Amino acid sequence: MSIDIDALDARLDAAGDRLTRYRAAGLRVFATSSFQPNSVLLLHLLATRAPWVPVYFLDTGYHFPETLLWRDTLAARTGLRVVDLRSPMPRSQQRDADGRLLFVSDPDRCCHLNKVLPLQPVQAAHDVWVTGLRAAQSAQRADMDEEEPDASGVLKYSPLLRWTGRELEAMRDAHALPRHPLEGRGFASIGCSPCTTASSGGLDDRAGRWSGQRKTECGLHGGAR
Ligand code: SF4
Repeated sequence: MSIDIDALDARLDAAGDRLTRYRAAGLRVFATSSFQPNSVLLLHLLATRAPWVPVYFLDTGYHFPETLLWRDTLAARTGLRVVDLRSPMPRSQQRDADGRLLFVSDPDRCCHLNKVLPLQPVQAAHDVWVTGLRAAQSAQRADMDEEEPDASGVLKYSPLLRWTGRELEAMRDAHALPRHPLEGRGFASIGCSPCTTASSGGLDDRAGRWSGQRKTECGLHGGAR
């Protein structure tokens, strides 16, 4: 079945209208992006419908160089204000009692230090958090609502939650959206380099993240596992 691009554009319009309403109501809105391949549609939505929304990037210090380059490329191309956030704890101190790096011995703590903690001041200073989460990414995300209260106290809005991978791909083609430099090299999902492996992917959008562990989330969006 062919995909109706006009209908998908209308869904982006509706999302843009909702962001405009938040702003008109005096709510302070921010977005986060991990600048992985599928992030581009959320950035397209913001750039074309709500360019006033600042985009925060959690710079863990463990990203692939290609992701950092892509972040810079997309920021320049879209004109969005992209702000890097870093852990308050220096990476040299992110070790366990045996001197092992935390992503090896305690990835939940590593994610907490590098993702959850740096975002907290931003959450405290805003009312609405826009994310690019999609239900197809995991069972936990499938249970979410497009708009729901977050444990941090902000309202979380995920305009792409019900989008399928096919719809996203169709929009990337229709609008000639750029591609992450590592796309096509076997990564279903791209996060920090120590915790990302190439994967056949299949139906699992998050395959290859924390491979071989029970962990499926970084802790920003509910449980760390
Ligand atoms: S994804 Fe891995 S390297 Fe990145 S913050 Fe989490 S545990 Fe650390």
